[in-house]
Amino acid sequence: MSVSLEKTSHPGRPGSDELIPSRYALRVGEIDVLVISDGVFSLPAATLATNADPADLAAWLDDRLLPPDVYKWPLNVVVVRSGGRTVLIDAGIGREYPDYPRAGRLAMRLDAAGIDPASVTDVVLTHMHMDHIGGLFADGLRDRLRPDVPIHLAAVETEFWASPDFSRTAMPPPVPDVIRALAGRFLDEYGSQLRPFEAEYKVAPGVVVSRTGGHDPGHSVVRLASGGDRLTFLGDAVFPNHFDHPDWYNAFDHDPEEAVRVRVRLLRELAASRELLVAGHLPFPSVGRVAVAGDVFRFVPAIWEY
Ligand SMILES: [Zn+2]
Repeated sequence: MSVSLEKTSHPGRPGSDELIPSRYALRVGEIDVLVISDGVFSLPAATLATNADPADLAAWLDDRLLPPDVYKWPLNVVVVRSGGRTVLIDAGIGREYPDYPRAGRLAMRLDAAGIDPASVTDVVLTHMHMDHIGGLFADGLRDRLRPDVPIHLAAVETEFWASPDFSRTAMPPPVPDVIRALAGRFLDEYGSQLRPFEAEYKVAPGVVVSRTGGHDPGHSVVRLASGGDRLTFLGDAVFPNHFDHPDWYNAFDHDPEEAVRVRVRLLRELAASRELLVAGHLPFPSVGRVAVAGDVFRFVPAIWEY
């Protein structure tokens, strides 16, 4: 079965005048937040649930009128401005994986949003998978970011990727090779800019990156809090199926059991606080809240205010 990726109407040439919205701006107290879509890329649907009965995954997909074999992963990046700092959180997939022509658009969409990469004061990485660091090697970003821009990530993340363990993952080939190679290249080429933190680091007023582990050892989330408003960027702690099935292992989870514990803890906490969330792979703009629904959860999209 072939699944066309070209489902948008008259998308025209990708560029600043593209008709599909690619950014969504909101304020969290005094903090400006911009969610930017890096695009979408397709993976076998089985990557959503490596420990589920295939019939249960098929039913979940069919329930959403989705094809049984391929799932389009949305990919979101966030830019935060607070206290005179401009913080880029994750960098998209760039051009490191040639089969994904509809992703890797961050540089173009930063331009369209009027954000000069040279104005970025800090980069935060939730983790070192290729779809979160690849953009740092892309034309239009690598050559325009300040050559000394600090890159904040968990110390254990850099240690893990020096000699990564893939034994619990189920990534389809050739993804493991690409991910391993790109992480190594990142450590080589950006090593002098890394600012590793142990448990958490305050990047800007009201902006704290905090290690969770689970998805991979140094996986981190970013907490925003200002004037009574709160938003958490969940990175890859939660995928679209995890509201209904928080115990499904993602093929990219390096420690699936710990990923489930982290995910359930975060979702319960966010349901209790009723704060906004954004995640790396929820459908753009991914801004919403989570509610408890019996033993599981329910995603409640925010109303677009524009
Ligand atoms: Zn990811």
